[in-house]
Amino acid sequence: MSVEKVDVVVVGGGQSGIAASEHLTTKGMSHVVLEKDRLAERWRTGRWDSLVTNGPAWHDRFPSKGHAAHQDSFVPKDQVADYFASYADTHGGDFREGTKVLSVTRLNDGRGFLTRTTAGDFESTYVIAATGAFQVATMPQVVPADSGINQIHSEEYRNPRDLPAGGVLVVGSGSSGVQIAEELLDAGREVYLAVGPHDRPPRRYRDRDIIWWMGALHRWDDALYALDDKPVAMAMSGAKGGLTVDFRELCNRGMQLVGRAESFADGVMQFGDDLAKNIHDGDARYLELLREADEYVATNNIDLPAEPEAHLIAEDPTCLTEPIRSLQLAEAGISTIIWATGFARNYDWLQVEGAVDENGNPRHHRGIGTAHGVYFVGLPWQSRRASSFIYGCWHDAKFVVDAIESKQFYHAYKS
Ligand SMILES: Cc1cc2nc3c(=O)[nH]c(=O)nc-3n(C[C@H](O)[C@H](O)[C@H](O)COP(=O)(O)OP(=O)(O)OC[C@H]3O[C@@H](n4cnc5c(N)ncnc54)[C@H](O)[C@@H]3O)c2cc1C
Repeated sequence: MSVEKVDVVVVGGGQSGIAASEHLTTKGMSHVVLEKDRLAERWRTGRWDSLVTNGPAWHDRFPSKGHAAHQDSFVPKDQVADYFASYADTHGGDFREGTKVLSVTRLNDGRGFLTRTTAGDFESTYVIAATGAFQVATMPQVVPADSGINQIHSEEYRNPRDLPAGGVLVVGSGSSGVQIAEELLDAGREVYLAVGPHDRPPRRYRDRDIIWWMGALHRWDDALYALDDKPVAMAMSGAKGGLTVDFRELCNRGMQLVGRAESFADGVMQFGDDLAKNIHDGDARYLELLREADEYVATNNIDLPAEPEAHLIAEDPTCLTEPIRSLQLAEAGISTIIWATGFARNYDWLQVEGAVDENGNPRHHRGIGTAHGVYFVGLPWQSRRASSFIYGCWHDAKFVVDAIESKQFYHAYKS
């Protein structure tokens, strides 16, 4: 089979690969985007049915094209997938769907890379790994597979109807865990939610969405190394038109909150003693955001209505004051555990010396790989908090493609 030659091979046709392609096209660099499924497949089939974006339409988009949806609405996932597919069309890159990258290796003469795929081989001077931050679902090995309990990762959850009858324990209180737990509660299921450390900002405050506040307060621009505290999962939701995640309210509606799911033996799950602390820490982060927002309004003399009632935190419900520490799952009627416990990366195909560390994590600075010629887009905290989100990956892709152009400039120099 013949080998196709391009300047850049982009691996992955999600939003990160599509953004990289736009910038490469703008700069006139020949490239191909290799996607094992369809463009933006994760948005189309890799998430639950009712998912909408966490940010409003005016924000969760690329700069040069808006969504068809109302700008303050939260866009359903299928429309996000359609948006990216049509965005890719508009920008005229060369996208190869159904093309799985099997390996990327350095060419023997050291001048570039050989990419082997299920649909032929490619040679390129540069490779951009755009396979994203959410590649491999991680499920802690707490409950043995033969325990008789149906266990799935949040990635596999689709809707309440598809789960076996009975109660559900959702582990993880980031956006996925909280949204899934609430959907199950609304569907009449008995729901237990294991709450870990989290940030649960107000959905709206003083007539502005949290996404606006994060921009105005430069929170999207936070760099990981500059943070005093390790970042925690963000619990927010665009469901039901966008509401603040309020654990006390969920508890008062019948959701049983518990601490970290720590261990399991003889059908009994043990939960950590950290529930109240996690909720109170989340409240403190919430109130700190309000304080910063108020200070910002005052300092900049912006005319936004005061909202004192947002500062009121309800009393601790009994699940906080008298927390459940252990639970016989079968007796409690729990038939399913949903692990909303995040994702890991897998760069097994990237067989370039120095591209990843001993744990398989990319070695890079702002997406510029330590292994020359290798670049990354879509990593969490690649350059800042926004990096793995729609809004941020476009800017990181631009930075990376600018860096490739800069390398070409130096290579073109002749003494
Ligand atoms: C549940 C959930 C909700 C989210 N909601 C939002 C939101 O509302 N707003 C927001 O801004 N962000 C959101 N995000 C974060 C982020 O925007 C998405 O995860 C987005 O899909 C990441 O895009 P990506 O292109 O970086 O990675 P992905 O969408 O994962 O795309 C990577 C692509 O690489 C392909 N691929 C992988 N391996 C290979 C290979 N070997 N060969 C060829 N192709 C390969 C995959 O098939 C995939 O299509 C959410 C994330 C999750 C998990």
